Amino acid sequence: MSNRQIDALIVGAGFSGLYMLHKLRELGFTAHVVEAADDVGGTWYWNRYPGARCDIESFEYSYSFDEELQQEWEWSERYATQPEILRYLQHVAERFDLRRDIAFETRVASAHWDEDTKRWKVKTENGDSFEARYFITGVGCLSSFNSPDIPGLENFAGEVYSTGQWPHEGVDFTGKKVAVIGTGSSAIQSTPIIAEQADHLTIFQRTPNYVVPAQNHPTDKEFVGKLKQKYGEFREAQRASLLGAARVLLQTPKMVLSIPEDEFQEEMEQRWAMGGLVGFMASHLDSGTDRDANERIADFVRAKIRDRVEDPDTAELLTPRSYPIATKRLCVDIGYYEIFNRDNVELVDLNAAPIEAIEANCVRTNRQSYEVDALVLATGFDAMTGTLNRIDIRGLGGEKLKDKWADGPHTHLGLMSVGFPNMFMITGPQSPSVGSNMVVSIEQHVDWIADLLVHMRENGKEVFEPLVESEKEWGEHIDILFNMSLHPQADTWYLGSNVPGKPRVFTVYIGGVHAYRNLSDEIAEKGYPGFAIDGEGKPNDVDFEDHVMRLMPEELQAA
Ligand code: FAD
Ligand code: NAP
Repeated sequence: MSNRQIDALIVGAGFSGLYMLHKLRELGFTAHVVEAADDVGGTWYWNRYPGARCDIESFEYSYSFDEELQQEWEWSERYATQPEILRYLQHVAERFDLRRDIAFETRVASAHWDEDTKRWKVKTENGDSFEARYFITGVGCLSSFNSPDIPGLENFAGEVYSTGQWPHEGVDFTGKKVAVIGTGSSAIQSTPIIAEQADHLTIFQRTPNYVVPAQNHPTDKEFVGKLKQKYGEFREAQRASLLGAARVLLQTPKMVLSIPEDEFQEEMEQRWAMGGLVGFMASHLDSGTDRDANERIADFVRAKIRDRVEDPDTAELLTPRSYPIATKRLCVDIGYYEIFNRDNVELVDLNAAPIEAIEANCVRTNRQSYEVDALVLATGFDAMTGTLNRIDIRGLGGEKLKDKWADGPHTHLGLMSVGFPNMFMITGPQSPSVGSNMVVSIEQHVDWIADLLVHMRENGKEVFEPLVESEKEWGEHIDILFNMSLHPQADTWYLGSNVPGKPRVFTVYIGGVHAYRNLSDEIAEKGYPGFAIDGEGKPNDVDFEDHVMRLMPEELQAA
């Protein structure tokens, strides 16, 4: 039991918490991390399912804050596997001697703002407590597993695995009948490997996904060697990009519908051959705002499904039609569609035959029972707000964050919430987060918070909080961007649609990593308008929409 007095208490030891700790220590603050797992890694600690790897190229999906670190680390593949990313984060922890300030196997249970001392009182489930000037969450957007509410799940007598909490020792499915529920990225990465091991694999699909190929390969040493000679410049380009990824594979500043068919097909084939989600997420100017334009791209991907899957009925079941492409992070595969050409793999469409119950040795739909020895839940996460809402966070007047957010998150910049002074959320809801290369967005938040803390210290100030009006304005800005996009036409975890009872509220800032950075920088440069410092603040005068429009190509603005 301890009651430590520190400047900052950080929750989580993933990409966010590790960098936040390092940064604050470098600046002379006392900081401590509390982490539920027994080691660092976050996402890459928990998600150990077979096939797990990043969907952004590794030389992009990595820290930029230390030149020596980025020069010395060698990725073995274009898209590193989970064990390699975990080794990288362990290396970072060792290199910067971070573990000595991390309490592992410790879960933060509550954080209450004390108005008298102007400090956060943080308690862990182990009974430890901290008093911290700043409470900083790096709890992850995708870190609370969404266990499906299927009748009888608890009666299943075989093995049950969740992709988001995979056993450390691995699982051997040899000779087993396996069922996988879910067809999101986690299933798309794991099923090709499970299919090779298992005697039989049944995949239960509710909504088909758009999937593009990774075209993974061992690291191109010549390319990376050249890149490392100007890594700093490359990192700047990431920060100045829409998605936080700078290796734009094809530059096509065109409106989709203006491209002649043969030219369009040729260009899309090039994108396909290059692989990866970046070339498809923001492929054309209007693909995210005009449904007809979006359909042209979606149709290209749909045709690829028909090419890859031999049985036309199965191909059709795997083809998404009801929602626009890229309204959820695109899935990137290595051999996913090809598994449906195997004799031991079967696809069950839950729309035609919903699961009625899970029994001791089978999954029963309203049409048929499927005998299984092992069940894999690839059912996603209570994303964006789920993990924050699991902590008893109370701000001014004892208000609970969970209550304030009962109808969806309310934040300023996706970084702070009114009534919760000195609390910061790294990649919180309503920030670019999951709509970007997250390491770039994490570094931007950490740097912004660190600069602010230095500003507070240098000016002898204690309490920092957004103004009510700025939070309202930010919420409206999020809505404007949402309504300009095709996102309202999809039901995704970005909107909480995957969790029964969650309010349907859009939780991602989609104005671009570059626009977000620029407007955040302008706020800092102007002395933090829109926030109160020790109770005094000027209204926000930063024009959020202008930041987005300035970076929007003219053709799109006109449209
Ligand atoms: P996390 O890595 O989620 O870490 C949060 C940590 O906080 C966890 O270790 C958790 O145990 C801890 N924690 C939470 N609550 C508490 C508490 N109350 N007390 C103590 N500890 C707590 N993004 C990309 O940009 N590219 C990718 O390729 C990519 N691939 C992904 C693959 C998978 C399988 C998943 C699930 C996500 C992926 N993401 C990807 C998103 C990924 O989550 C981020 O890129 C990044 O790793 C998040 O880092 P983080 O530190 O913010 O959060
Ligand atoms: P997900 O995309 O939310 O997929 C979950 C799947 O489970 C969906 O197919 C969902 O169907 C289904 N499902 C959920 N509840 C169900 C129920 N009760 N009955 C039947 N089916 C149910 O989750 P995820 O695959 O873990 O991926 C989440 C995010 O993590 C990704 O979008 C991505 O950002 C990140 N990720 C990235 C990678 C990578 O490539 N690097 C890998 C894994 C994850 P519905 O769609 O109908 O809800």
